[in-house]
Amino acid sequence: MSEVQNILSKLISFDTVSRNSNLKLISYIQDYLSGFGISSRLVENDDKSKANLYATIGPNIAGGVILSGHTDVVPIDDQDWDTDAFTLTEKDGKYFGRGTCDMKGFIAICLAAVPNVLAADLKRPIHLYFSYDEEIGCIGAVELVNEIVKHLPPVEAVIVGEPTNMQVANLHKGVAAYMTRVTGVEAHSSKTNLGISANLAAAKLIHFLSDLLDEFKLNPQKNLTSLIPNHNTLNVGLLKGGTALNILPRSCEFSLDIRTLPSDNPEKYMDQYRAYARKIEKQMQAEFEIANIEISTSAKAPGLIPEPNGNAERLALNLSSNNKTIAVAYGTEAGLFQRAGYSTIVCGPGSIDQAHKPNEFIEISQIEKGEIFIEKLINRVAN
Ligand SMILES: [Zn+2]
Repeated sequence: MSEVQNILSKLISFDTVSRNSNLKLISYIQDYLSGFGISSRLVENDDKSKANLYATIGPNIAGGVILSGHTDVVPIDDQDWDTDAFTLTEKDGKYFGRGTCDMKGFIAICLAAVPNVLAADLKRPIHLYFSYDEEIGCIGAVELVNEIVKHLPPVEAVIVGEPTNMQVANLHKGVAAYMTRVTGVEAHSSKTNLGISANLAAAKLIHFLSDLLDEFKLNPQKNLTSLIPNHNTLNVGLLKGGTALNILPRSCEFSLDIRTLPSDNPEKYMDQYRAYARKIEKQMQAEFEIANIEISTSAKAPGLIPEPNGNAERLALNLSSNNKTIAVAYGTEAGLFQRAGYSTIVCGPGSIDQAHKPNEFIEISQIEKGEIFIEKLINRVAN
């Protein structure tokens, strides 16, 4: 068994679905690194059930490279797997398991390279940076980016190893997620004078959002044809309201996910939406004072914008032997780094087509490409 496979099988065995703690995996990485005399620092969440980890290998000076990955994975609920999702299974030149592709494969490559990094006598550092709760909105990374801005010397580049088939992505949308909770007043459905329907109020709000989506479609950004679609999008993915056919529903809630072009800001549209919600709330409260509408933000991650002559792009193109960049449809932590002033790129093994699905896998050939990339990086910072 190769060292990468060994480490990957260990990483996969920890059920780090975002709703669970990732501490066992983090302490495995911490122990692994300390076995090489490398100390790591943790940045915990409020209730200390999860942690980000970062570690510096080589001299702690400016000009290093950050390799970034997230430790959490998406759930396997209601998915039909042919193998145990938390046991690494090798078949037909592929490793199967939840997180193999998104994105424990990249983390395993980084960790397996540690002995080579140490042997290389680095002139500049390689920083490892592993976060929690990426899959539910890059939550851990917000704290971690704040932390490294304070504690790490400036770096040449940040490479976020999300699956791009080892291509270099310099562009993706921003993602923001919200919940709307409408509270009405319950009554017999025939007595609309005694109550107010939360579902019908929610319908008005969703209608507003549907119109907003139509407006988005009419406003593509023409110079960004590599983004498909090249306009903002929104989705109401979850909707829950009411209790029975003949009861005016007291509560209705729904999710909203807005994906904006990287230079745009979702708050612009949320301001319009909130203003409309206030108007509907006022109408409801004119009838029943206790009715209300609450809108909360559950996640927000900015988009990634191509950097003219960016360090990270140049470095990643060189290391991956690519001559052009791509855009990706999904969001990543890269935008958070970029907004904090770091030159950032997304480049990692595996295909996003295999992520988040049952029987997630990574081609072993992709792991090998990732290993070559890291080897080249080591050579570069050793000279
Ligand atoms: Zn991911």
